[in-house]
Amino acid sequence: TAPLLRVDELVVDLPRPDGDGRAVRVVDGVSFDVPAGTTVGLIGESGSGKTMTALAVIGLLPDRAATGGELVWRGEDLLRPGTDWRRVRGHQISMIFQDPLAALNPSLTIGRQVGEILRRAGRPRAEVRATVIDLLGRAGVPEPERRMSSYPHEFSGGLRQRAMIALALAGNPSLLLADEPTTALDVTVQARILRLLRSIQQEQGLAMLLVSHDLRVIAHVADEVVVMYAGRVAERGRAAEVLRRPGHPYTRALVASVPAVRTRTALADPLPGAPATPANRPSGCAFHPRCPLARDRCRTEVPRTREVAPGRWSACHFAEEVLIP
Ligand code: SF4
Repeated sequence: TAPLLRVDELVVDLPRPDGDGRAVRVVDGVSFDVPAGTTVGLIGESGSGKTMTALAVIGLLPDRAATGGELVWRGEDLLRPGTDWRRVRGHQISMIFQDPLAALNPSLTIGRQVGEILRRAGRPRAEVRATVIDLLGRAGVPEPERRMSSYPHEFSGGLRQRAMIALALAGNPSLLLADEPTTALDVTVQARILRLLRSIQQEQGLAMLLVSHDLRVIAHVADEVVVMYAGRVAERGRAAEVLRRPGHPYTRALVASVPAVRTRTALADPLPGAPATPANRPSGCAFHPRCPLARDRCRTEVPRTREVAPGRWSACHFAEEVLIP
């Protein structure tokens, strides 16, 4: 069956900050699917292009961005001119941001904001109120009937993120985009919010695209994982398999850098070197300056993404050497 969302050879060019007229390719031919009802984790360091990929999916790229490739949503390419994003955003695809304080309006009550999309759809007042209470309750806001009259500043960070989740669910979306949804929260609250997102996703059969720099977050909730490096996909496949037996040296280094994910030893090996950025992408395989397996071919030839095991795609010339247990 066709996936809910197919990202096909997505390209995003942004003008250079110094304004010399040239563009930087911040997303360079990224492809992956989001099947209905699954959670896909998009992981990478800063500059990997993961957030730009997510912003493209919800039509929130900066004004001067130029795009290529396709974003096929239920059979329709969202990158085609004339896409009515108001029909898609908040209704079919909703987004949860890292910082709910910046995303919520400080001068409106939580209830008013969560109910906005319902009011705009012309739903009667009593129904809006009942739905808002239900949504806040589902997002784990205690005493939703009372708390709906609170303002964002009266909520703790964790509660604000729950309000943001209720708001994202209000339009009854099929895909939830979550960009670092727990990064701004305390560790204990992080785990609770992730559990909540996972249970909402499963109960409602939603698809979720979860963007994170934190492998532990991805390991916690994702069914599939897409590993990004310098604007390109390094590897993708089933999350459990990719994390247990990486098929790309970058994923292997990423897994080794996180003690909780790594299984063989308790110690973490920090990733060597600094991440490549799209503005300064090394020739050939962008990971070659940091890769212990790099050889001449890696410096000149960009690796093609290929299926190296069933359902496992890697952009490494020597993926087979990495995959050997
Ligand atoms: Fe390393 Fe070469 Fe594979 Fe790139 S293509 S990850 S440099 S071995």
